[in-house]
Amino acid sequence: MLDPFNRNITYLRISVTDRCDFRCVYCMSENMTFLPKANLLTLEELHRLASLFIECGIQKIRLTGGEPLVRKNLMWLIEKLSQKIGKSNLKELTITTNGSQLASFANDLADNEIKRINVSLDTLDSDLFKKITRWGELSKVLDGIKVAQDSGIKIKINTVALKGINDQEIPSIIKWAHSNGMDITLIETMPMGDIDGDRTENYLPLTDYMKVLEQEFKLTESDYNTGGPSRYYTSTETGCKIGLITPLSHNFCSDCNRVRVTCTGKMYMCLGQDDSVDFNKLMRNNATDGEIIQLIHRSISLKPKSHDFKIDEYNNAPAVDRHMSVTGG
Ligand code: SAM
Ligand code: SF4
Repeated sequence: MLDPFNRNITYLRISVTDRCDFRCVYCMSENMTFLPKANLLTLEELHRLASLFIECGIQKIRLTGGEPLVRKNLMWLIEKLSQKIGKSNLKELTITTNGSQLASFANDLADNEIKRINVSLDTLDSDLFKKITRWGELSKVLDGIKVAQDSGIKIKINTVALKGINDQEIPSIIKWAHSNGMDITLIETMPMGDIDGDRTENYLPLTDYMKVLEQEFKLTESDYNTGGPSRYYTSTETGCKIGLITPLSHNFCSDCNRVRVTCTGKMYMCLGQDDSVDFNKLMRNNATDGEIIQLIHRSISLKPKSHDFKIDEYNNAPAVDRHMSVTGG
């Protein structure tokens, strides 16, 4: 599927729920109002939609959220989609998780062809972990990581870099990840959805932070590219990668290969723009597969050239109203 800027769209991220068992300070406010359950696509509807996207050319699907593993019966969807790997356009199925439930689900994920996952972890200090996630417990996440690794799943750690909160600790998080065989990606805070505080206070521009990293690690720029917003460096000591997601300080849009579908069946062609296409209405109006495929192609033709993110002291309102947990990271 080629979009108007000649980008080949092969990667679909599906946010399977907007709910979560954490309330990370940069992602959600403490008292979130979630979507009414009736608005959510059922797992059968998500399966149908994902299958049609695969038919149109999607090769990689990431399930995200909210916390994907809190969606009831998610393993049913994972099982159904994993059966398509290698037998359709689909080559890879994966998830991004906060790791809280990983200890219980890792073996099932491994049994269903899930070979690599992303686990989000912003600190190794259990008190700070509680402060950042509000409701999370570090030990559960660390147990989950261990069970997943023991079941053969490769893990990449995602760490949101927060000035004045975890910036001092980032080098030791990187060392911990690499010494346990895990690549790591650092993420800048993105202005998405209202939260209780002010994001600009904790915004850490990663292009500046590279200078700190270069003092700690011997890094070579890597040509590894997932078609996404990460730039990768390889540590010559460990051989593991450090990725930087810098949507605000670096423009990554020209290589973008992805679109996102929310749990209500809205498709966002760009994480940082409000344009969307609604599959929910069409699907619940008894649309044929052909009609849905037509809308998939139409929505790809509407993909914008780039996002509009901007975060600075004069502009601290969210660039888009929806929280990251609605569209998925
Ligand atoms: N709950 C899962 C998790 O935390 O991994 C999946 C969904 S979460 C929205 C996906 C990723 O987005 C996480 O790595 C999280 O840290 C990141 N994230 C959430 N809100 C963000 C924001 N405003 N700016 C930057 N990253 C954010
Ligand atoms: Fe939940 Fe992930 Fe958002 Fe944290 S970042 S509140 S774990 S959805």
